Amino acid sequence: MNTCITSHKAWNRISRAGICQAIERWEELESLTMPTIGHPPYIMEGLANNCKNFKELKIMGSFDLLFASAVTTYLPKLKVLSLRCSKVTMGALQCVLNSLEHLEVLNISHCLLFEMATNGRRQVIHELDNKALERASRLREFHHCQSRQCVACQRMMLDEGILRWYRYEDWFWRRDEVRSLDLKDYGRLFGAQCEMLTSVD
Ligand SMILES: [Zn+2]
Repeated sequence: MNTCITSHKAWNRISRAGICQAIERWEELESLTMPTIGHPPYIMEGLANNCKNFKELKIMGSFDLLFASAVTTYLPKLKVLSLRCSKVTMGALQCVLNSLEHLEVLNISHCLLFEMATNGRRQVIHELDNKALERASRLREFHHCQSRQCVACQRMMLDEGILRWYRYEDWFWRRDEVRSLDLKDYGRLFGAQCEMLTSVD
């Protein structure tokens, strides 16, 4: 599996042209783990145009309808999607469930699901409706956790949907319920010392 994992810090320091150039060279790329970015369509378009075998995407942060539309438009054959520990709008989730016909594995464990009420306020969704559950039941694997007893869910509530990963154990962000996306020790490119030296926060 040809995999790329990018941290938020790294991503923010690369220019848009730099990312596009990199993607052009990743012809064999099959899997990408990335933080939420402001304008996702160009990344998805780059992946679609250059990485013919691309099949797995993991997003860390927030996932809205714009992001979901970019994924369904440019990567319609995506097989695995993990949104684990992300803030996800119900519109985005429905878009993914309804439009990604080749999707086999979806992970929305410990996500903060919400929709905008008519009064403009954010309404947290604590249970999936039957329509979403029915569509998800057709997937080979569907990982879903929303529980007050779960530590990851508790952290999501505490951080209001955008996890402050730096506050938690180093292994926490590398975990995934989807086996092929679980990094274990992979991705530990820098030691704590180096992280400190390169930190811009
Ligand atoms: Zn959970």
